[in-house]
Amino acid sequence: MVIWAAVSSTGNLTIRELESTGEARLALYDSSLRAAIDRYRYLPYVVARHHQVTRAIENPRTAHTANLYLQQVNDQSGAAALYVLDRSGETVASSNWNTPDSFVGEDYSFRPYFNQSLAGQEGFFFGIGVTTGRAGLFISHPIRQSGEVIGVVVVKLELEEVEQNWQDAGETVFVADADGVITLTSHGDWKYKTLSPLSPANRARIENNRQYPGRDLPSLDVGQQLAKGSGIVAIDGHRYLFDSKPIRGSAWRIFYLTSMDQVTDRQGAVMLIAVIAGGMIILVILFLRERELKLASQREALEFERIQALNTRLEEEITERRKTEEELRGTQNELVQAGKLAALGQMSAAIAHEINQPIAAIRTFCASAKLMIERGKTEKLDQNISQISALTERMGAITGQLKTFSRKSTGVLEPVDLKVALDNALQLLSPQLQQEECTFERNEPETPLIIRADLVRIEQICVNIIRNALDAMQGSSIKRIRIDLDATEADVIMRITDTGPGMNEETLSLLFDPFFTTKDPGQGVGLGLSVTYGIVRDFGGSIKAYNTDTAGACFEVRLPLLKGKTP
Ligand code: ADP
Repeated sequence: MVIWAAVSSTGNLTIRELESTGEARLALYDSSLRAAIDRYRYLPYVVARHHQVTRAIENPRTAHTANLYLQQVNDQSGAAALYVLDRSGETVASSNWNTPDSFVGEDYSFRPYFNQSLAGQEGFFFGIGVTTGRAGLFISHPIRQSGEVIGVVVVKLELEEVEQNWQDAGETVFVADADGVITLTSHGDWKYKTLSPLSPANRARIENNRQYPGRDLPSLDVGQQLAKGSGIVAIDGHRYLFDSKPIRGSAWRIFYLTSMDQVTDRQGAVMLIAVIAGGMIILVILFLRERELKLASQREALEFERIQALNTRLEEEITERRKTEEELRGTQNELVQAGKLAALGQMSAAIAHEINQPIAAIRTFCASAKLMIERGKTEKLDQNISQISALTERMGAITGQLKTFSRKSTGVLEPVDLKVALDNALQLLSPQLQQEECTFERNEPETPLIIRADLVRIEQICVNIIRNALDAMQGSSIKRIRIDLDATEADVIMRITDTGPGMNEETLSLLFDPFFTTKDPGQGVGLGLSVTYGIVRDFGGSIKAYNTDTAGACFEVRLPLLKGKTP
């Protein structure tokens, strides 16, 4: 756009500049042409008043004196010819009387200037001489005698000098007559060409006047373009800027043309400069952009390196964390196991008691069976045996639970019914519960409460919490444990409430920390709840502890409900 603007404004500027030069030149050439013509205009007027001229018309025998006079005046003035016609149009006397082209005796009555002057006016006519074959401007004046027109004086000017001057100055100037015929021009090719095609009537008139004998008068066909008076015109495929004005005192018009080459040349130069400047600007912009991009990419590279370093550090940290997590999980498993063994140790007295009782009973039953056999009272023997069998089943159940309890978790998660896990845990703890004379209350929905977990570890949770409750209630007058199982849309909730003393602030805040215990050495190791906490979290659940209104402690475990599944 800048290039376009520069080129077009240069074009406009150059055109304006050329227009104003053209205007000045046109005025100059117009006035110089008029001066060249006006120099001779008075000549026929003066000559027409000379007595020798009048006499020559009245008495043709005195023509020779007139010839000499005309020759003398013509030579002095520098005109092409000066001659006198009588009323019939015949040349009476002429400045060139003594040359082969002498006009004397020639009839010029067909020339318009003759008729104009015969009518008493000044004649003004451009045409090619019929005698000489040379073009010229004919200016005529009537010769009067007592108010009567008795003849005509004509001066012929050849304006070649004017044309030569235009040519020498390297200008493109031409003059067109009333018919649009180019009469004078610095451009030889255009001479006797018309601006617009001639109408048949005009052509006939011109032929009649023998104005341009032997000339075809072809048209340049630019009349329409020139009609505006000034502007741009294309002649023979070449564009010119033109200006024109009528020549005062004639029906002629003078045209001044300037080649548009100057405009296109300047536009070309400006375009070249603009293109070079534009190119340089683009180069500078590209260079700056390139530099900016380079800097940006350097910045990016630095940033990338920083991020990469950060990533590497993060990855290292992640690996470290994973390792720690694995170690923790291992430790946790160990702890679970240790916790179980600790629980086993604690429970061993109760278990021993629980197992000793059936063993003593079995022993008694065996002894009585032996007696029965000895006495031959075998009818009640099978009752005895079935009691022994019931007792061994019970013992089997206890040892079976212990086995389950002590086995290491597989780590495989599967649908587990919390109610079943709780049953198992209670079964495991039943000797202790009985020993402590602890009453027991259980509220739960009829439907199974399925969670995604590992049965052994869920049992572990229940055992840990219930065992803590039993421990806490050791000094309490009323020993009661209430277990509420419930389910919401998303969770299964287990609340285990005891009638113990509850927990103080410190205990509440440190409860789930490993090795936090308020129990005497040998009684507790402080791992139960921290293990429980870890297990609950592994299954995506949560655990919290608080004191109830009635002073006891409540442990609330929430685990995600597994919908639409049965164990
Ligand atoms: P440990 O039983 O070996 O002490 P735990 O982690 O199971 O370890 O328990 C930590 C502590 O939490 C216990 O020492 C006890 O002070 C407190 N605690 C746990 N359950 C109860 C409860 N039901 N009532 C009061 N205090 C409790």
